[in-house]
Amino acid sequence: MDAYFPIGIVFGIPNDGQVASAFNTDPAEAIEFFKAVFGWTIVFPISGIFAILGAYCFTFKFKLGWSSNKFLIFVLVTSIAISVGAFKPIHEGYKHTVTALKGISELKKAESIQSKWQIKTAHPTKQIYVLVIGESARRDYMHAYGYPISNTPFMESKGTLIEGAVSADDYTIPSIQKMLTLSKAANHSKDNANLEYNVIDAANLAGFETYWFSNQGKINKKDTPITVIANRARHKQWLKESMDRSEKVSDSQLIPLLKKAVKSDDSGNSPKLIVLHLMGSHSAVCERLIEQPLLGAVKNQYFQDPLCYVSSIKQTDGLLEKIDQILTDSGKTYSVVYLSDHGVSHNEIQGKIVMNHASPASKHRSIPLYKFEDGEANLQKIKARKFMFNLTEGILYWLGIDTKQVSNPRDLFSGEDQKDERNELEKLSGRRLDPYIDIRGK
Ligand SMILES: [Zn+2]
Repeated sequence: MDAYFPIGIVFGIPNDGQVASAFNTDPAEAIEFFKAVFGWTIVFPISGIFAILGAYCFTFKFKLGWSSNKFLIFVLVTSIAISVGAFKPIHEGYKHTVTALKGISELKKAESIQSKWQIKTAHPTKQIYVLVIGESARRDYMHAYGYPISNTPFMESKGTLIEGAVSADDYTIPSIQKMLTLSKAANHSKDNANLEYNVIDAANLAGFETYWFSNQGKINKKDTPITVIANRARHKQWLKESMDRSEKVSDSQLIPLLKKAVKSDDSGNSPKLIVLHLMGSHSAVCERLIEQPLLGAVKNQYFQDPLCYVSSIKQTDGLLEKIDQILTDSGKTYSVVYLSDHGVSHNEIQGKIVMNHASPASKHRSIPLYKFEDGEANLQKIKARKFMFNLTEGILYWLGIDTKQVSNPRDLFSGEDQKDERNELEKLSGRRLDPYIDIRGK
């Protein structure tokens, strides 16, 4: 019962995103989660459980009555006190678990979802569109957005960079679910997936050849809203599907799949939409550095995780450069959008700074939003507030698709601030401040 206690200390009271993510996560990520969480705090529930079990055995062995044994009463009262301390997170956890389970049972029906999009016109201007969904990248850790260490040389060379994108959630699954489906009205109870209006179906119906290549985990065809959406693509592949799940797989292994999709003529003259889902800068970030060496060193191990994080950004920047190279070599016209599902926050765990999802702070949802296309030579930086709740609408604009549902989709890369319909900025400003750490000299 009080097993949630250590998680509660580090992560705070659980919310739907945490619970949904815990239910949907891949076993390797779940192990990372528990590794990050369980420090000394595990002592509380374990000692609680052992105290109760010990007292129970003791009572039987010596045939003692509960009421006559002061020691046992003491143990019992202590155990209850510990449990009561953990009661609030448990109660919250229960509530959110019920919501998450409801969502999962909805997913079981997902295979039979009928798309409800009504396409009016499609007028794409490029032959190939690539949507790169990054992982856990926070923009103030990128040199392109002002971080003091050079880790984004490609992003600074050309394209359009938006400063002001706010992710749709703090966690992967709810965030991508909201990003890749048409947002419901602002006052709608938000966490049910609007899967009938997902972006892949819109592209299919508008005549695009669709592809989804993922370096993230997948358990079965309908384990999360993300795999449900991904499965709507005509061509799809998960890198980790056919190998040991704990194996570390570099995002760059998506490159041969991209190359093949770009070259293939299975679409005839139709435009292509290719989605690449990265592992990027996911927590346990030092383990993500497969090709990219560390950008320098830190004297104090306390800052090792931020150093890995800064370096992982460079790894993703290198991947974007490779994508650009393949598309340029193909001789086709193209447009690439890169963004992250959410950022991370600094948490002190076992005497070290850890960059993860725990206790999301004020910058947790400040993400990069970047586009590059064929024939560009300069970088344009634009300051504008863009809410990723509206990403599907922005993707429709990008692909040149007009639907009955969104007749005039808004451009993600315009200078116009979007209205904060869900008061997200106010909610974020109420969180603890969590500025980036300059690791130089640390
Ligand atoms: Zn994520």
